[in-house]
Formats: sequence, structure tokens, C-alpha cells
Amino acid sequence: MYTNSKNAIFEGLFDILPFSVYIVDVATYRIVYANKQMQKAVGKQDLIDCKCYKQIFNHSSPCPHCKKDQLVENNEPNGQTIVFELFNEANDCWYQIMEKSLVWIDGRIVKYSIAFEINELKSAQNNLAEAHAQLSIKNRELQELSKTDSLSGLYNRLKLSEVMDYELKRAKRYQRPLSIIILDIDDFKQVNDNLGHLIGDKVLQELAQILKNNIRETDSVFRWGGEEFLLLCPETDASEVNILAESIREVIAGQEFENKTSITVSLGTTSIQDNDTYELMFSRADRAMFNSKARGKNTSTHF
Ligand code: GH3
Ligand code: MG
Ligand code: MG
Repeated sequence: MYTNSKNAIFEGLFDILPFSVYIVDVATYRIVYANKQMQKAVGKQDLIDCKCYKQIFNHSSPCPHCKKDQLVENNEPNGQTIVFELFNEANDCWYQIMEKSLVWIDGRIVKYSIAFEINELKSAQNNLAEAHAQLSIKNRELQELSKTDSLSGLYNRLKLSEVMDYELKRAKRYQRPLSIIILDIDDFKQVNDNLGHLIGDKVLQELAQILKNNIRETDSVFRWGGEEFLLLCPETDASEVNILAESIREVIAGQEFENKTSITVSLGTTSIQDNDTYELMFSRADRAMFNSKARGKNTSTHF
């Protein structure tokens, strides 16, 4: 096809380009020209007059991604340039392809394609996407960690404010009961002083486990402060929360902790009232707990 010297120069020029160039007759899908880089990319030298979809993409019919209809209008090149990315399964390579149509030397309408191999770019993009996904998983883990108390494994106040906010809104909206318990270990300083801080820590861990074991699935327990815990009990009214508080108090008082230690707890309970906020509820439960201390400890009070 390229017999004259002009075409030889044209061919020579395109052959030294570091990307694939091929030209296809849009009426027949036959390849009119393919440069050396293109022949190398598809691993075939005799491409001329072969069907592009078969030789380049190993398809038995025109490719679904074929852009020829967007490049030709009324049998004329429409001047459009189309750029797209494509994965060629025939040689496992990613390409960025630029295509345009023109009238070939012999009058046929052809489309030419310039294909840059972008495997490295794609792999970098994939690595980046993977890194982003990992980062967001780690970020979520870190967020959860920031809401968890490392000693007891219970949620901390940060998580409590989230859950309490939700439960309070829900209770108000559906006019449902909601109660909380604040629980403080009696004379815990003495446990530390007499047995050491490490035993104290172990007692706190065991207490956290007891609390978890003695609440319903819908209740939740938080470490409120040093030796203070908070229980959030949705769908629980005043009489139910008082029964729960007393039963927890009894379980703890009857339990043998680390190093045969016995402890008691003072509890304060409160239940939702009209126009309540969580600050008001916490403060009532806290005052109720201090009232239990004032009444001699190892008891519970409802405010
Ligand atoms: P009360 O009956 O009035 O509550 O007396 P208390 O001794 O329990 O209260 P106080 O506030 O005087 O002391 C609380 C103690 O709890 C002192 C503190 O060292 C201990 N504590 C708080 N957090 C931890 C912890 O994480 N580990 C250990 N081992 N002790 C803790
Ligand atoms: Mg305390
Ligand atoms: Mg205490």
C-alpha cells in the first residue's frame, strides 16, 4: 500500500513513535495501517487488511467499545476527537486511546487510533484506591478505639454522648420510657491502697464483665469515670430500673473478685421526665448516687 517515497517517510516516522498507531476502514473494519509499536503490542506483523476487532481485540464481531459511529456523520468525518481508556483482554493491557476519523488517500473514510499503554498508571491508581480503602478502614477502627476504654473494653463517654443522644430523641418522639444508672465503687481507694493498683485494675475489669453479663441486650454499659460506670436502659421505667439496680448491687456484693477481694457499689438511678436533656438526666443520677453514699453506701437511690 505504501509504495511511493512519501508513504515510506510517513511509515518511517510513525514507526519510531513510542506508542501504537493504527488506522481502520470504518466501512469494513479492515486495518489500513499499523505502525511497528502496534505490531509489537498485539504480537502480530501482518495486520493490514485484517479485521481490527479480530486481530487486535480477539473478538468475533465488532467491539462493543467501537467509537466509529461517533466519529462519522453522513459518511463524512465529523472532526470529533474521542479519548477513552480501555482494557484489552487480548494482551492484558490498559490503554488510553485517542481516535479521530479522516478521508484516507484513496477516498475511504478511516478512523485512526493512537493508543498509549497505561498499565503503570492503572496499577498506581489501583494501589492508590487500595490505600484509600485501607486508610478508611483504619480510620473507622481508630474512631471506634477512641470511643473505647482500654482498661475495661467498655465504651467511654464519647460513645455515650452519641448513644444517649439517639436514645433520648427516640424516647421523646415515641413517648417511651428510658432510664440510666450511675454506679460507683465504694471505698475503692482502699482496694488500691491495700492491694495495689494492678489488683484494682483487675477488679475494674471483672466488674465491667459482671455489668455486661447482667444487663439486657438492648441496655449498654459505659465507663463513666475512674471507678464509675453508667448503664443506659431504653424501654425501662422507674420501677424496672430500680429492680435492675438492686439486682446488680446484690450480684456485686456477693461476688468474689481478684485476690478474694469483696466490693460494694452505690447506685443512682433516674428515668426520663418531660423536657429532659441528657445533662439533666446525668446530673439527677449522679445526685442519686451521692445520696446512696450519704445513706451509708452499698445501696441504690432513685431521683
Ligand atoms: P467512695 O466510696 O466515696 O466512692 O470512695 P472511693 O475511695 O471509691 O472514692 P475516691 O474518689 O476517693 O477514690 C476513687 C479511687 O478510684 C481512687 C483512684 O485511684 C481509683 N481509680 C480510679 N480509676 C482507676 C483505675 O483505672 N485503676 C485503678 N486501679 N484505680 C482507679
Ligand atoms: Mg467516684
Ligand atoms: Mg468510689
